Amino acid sequence: MSGVRRSRDQRGSWSSRGRGVRLAGVRTSWHTVDDGDFFCPGCGGDRSYRRRAGRRRFVLLGVPLLSRGAVAPVLECAACQGHFGTEALGHPTTYRLASLLRDAVHAIALTVLAAGGCESRTARQTAVDTVRSAGFTECTEDQLLTLLAALSAERGRGDSVSAEIELHEALAPLAPHLAPAGREGLLLHGARIALADGQYQAAERAALAAVGRSLRIDDEDVDRLLAQAHTPS
Ligand SMILES: [Zn+2]
Repeated sequence: MSGVRRSRDQRGSWSSRGRGVRLAGVRTSWHTVDDGDFFCPGCGGDRSYRRRAGRRRFVLLGVPLLSRGAVAPVLECAACQGHFGTEALGHPTTYRLASLLRDAVHAIALTVLAAGGCESRTARQTAVDTVRSAGFTECTEDQLLTLLAALSAERGRGDSVSAEIELHEALAPLAPHLAPAGREGLLLHGARIALADGQYQAAERAALAAVGRSLRIDDEDVDRLLAQAHTPS
């Protein structure tokens, strides 16, 4: 549907004789270009939006005259009717953020297990528990092991570059939207999986360092967090 709504801005001029009759002004006609869901910065939640494009026209006595050009497209919130710049789409919806978080924990668990601990029942169980509490409640040990086998067959042994690229693809879209404590919490999940079968192995440390890089955590903070993970919270 392409509804057209008009709004008047405040630049209309008024009769000098004080009769209060609007003679002239600039009117914006809006039409809907597309729609979708976004996180509304006005009312603060996942909402539907309509992307609206507008044209400004000079109006005299209610008659549209000269075009004053296009106005920048806006997103109109279905709930609060507020208008926002299209940059609001850069902020993920809560739903999307939750799904990114689940995927991130899943990717971290697989990366750490692939680096070592796969043969340890405690490590596997810690990984399953971590993935489940992140939201994949149906996750089983068999599923993780099947995925690991598929991943290692795909990557070939020792192909740590493509493994890090895949990890980065899962974590990088999330990193800008998390507070430092949220990013550090993700790394700690990985650290606890690595520690479930004993001290960090070199490959596990390398995997966790890669997690830290993708989450934009400084090297020294990664070291601090890996030491901290030894202490039960
Ligand atoms: Zn809103």
